[in-house]
Amino acid sequence: ESVVNRIAAGEVIQRPSSAVKELVENSIDAGASTVSVAVKDGGLKLIQVSDDGHGIRFEDLPILCERHTTSKLSAYEDLQTIKSMGFRGEALASMTYVGHVTVTTITEGQLHGYRVSYRDGVMENDPKPCAAVKGTQVMVENLFYNMAARRKTLQNSNDDYPKIVDFISRFAVHHINVNFSCRKHGANRADVHSASTSSRLDAIRNVYGVSVVRDLMEIEVSDENAVDGIFTMDGFISNANYVAKKTTMILFINDRLVDCTSLKRAIEFVYSAILPQASKPFIYMSINLPREHVDVNIHPTKKEVSLLNQEHIIETIKDAIEEKLMNSNT
Ligand code: ADP
Ligand code: MG
Repeated sequence: ESVVNRIAAGEVIQRPSSAVKELVENSIDAGASTVSVAVKDGGLKLIQVSDDGHGIRFEDLPILCERHTTSKLSAYEDLQTIKSMGFRGEALASMTYVGHVTVTTITEGQLHGYRVSYRDGVMENDPKPCAAVKGTQVMVENLFYNMAARRKTLQNSNDDYPKIVDFISRFAVHHINVNFSCRKHGANRADVHSASTSSRLDAIRNVYGVSVVRDLMEIEVSDENAVDGIFTMDGFISNANYVAKKTTMILFINDRLVDCTSLKRAIEFVYSAILPQASKPFIYMSINLPREHVDVNIHPTKKEVSLLNQEHIIETIKDAIEEKLMNSNT
């Protein structure tokens, strides 16, 4: 059974960066206003995510890392949520089958926190009282220690750290009221350091630099006439002055970081059709849709989504971008 669990877990957590993404999403879900990430050896040796969120109650610690433990479903929402967000309560559990997980947490009003380690879905020891300030720290050590081939592949390929930095950068652009930092463990300097702000452009400037922000235009779509409900989009896209060899597409749908390849391709197409130079776009986009219209159908950690009415949505966004680009180009 343990081998089966390990293989399943290795599917949910495919690389260090997928673990980081899950941990940071948990911190945001916990209402954190500060999320700090530290990583050793591209995440293979250590991933540490600390937040100042609401913490985990003592009585929830024993089952925290059992599969399908989640505090995020209420009875009636179950089916809908499972369908739209996929695979609830799998992330932490999975990490315990392929790494050593230690959680330190304190909830509001407590005098001290608790620390507890997990292996293969269960607590290794009773939670030990410890000093803690606010929120939760999850440490994942020796990821894939029991998956020799995976570890080897990851060690031989490029370090996952740039991917981790990339995830945190994207979160920082979307969750502008949260302080993010990401560093190599022990390093003084953070590679992402984004102070909370009330302005999206400030957040983008923090992370991607002033030269990007200078060349951005705001775009907005609110489409209430769609047959099957409302969808809204707001974001920024680069103008004719922007120069880059690669597309940067930061896409959040209903506040979840996702990929939508067909939308990305459509935007690249409009962009190259209208703008004369060969630059690829920078795009930040936040789309909101009825939850049941989003299908994370492919795989728990594949970020690729498909949308109900996808063609209509893509057409509408394309039109809005086309209009913006035309106006800016004259
Ligand atoms: P999910 O996020 O889908 O519920 P996870 O396996 O990622 O599943 O997390 C399981 C549960 O652990 C969450 O539902 C939440 O109650 C709790 N949890 C995990 N991380 C944190 C955190 N940083 N702060 C507070 N609670 C957390
Ligand atoms: Mg989660």
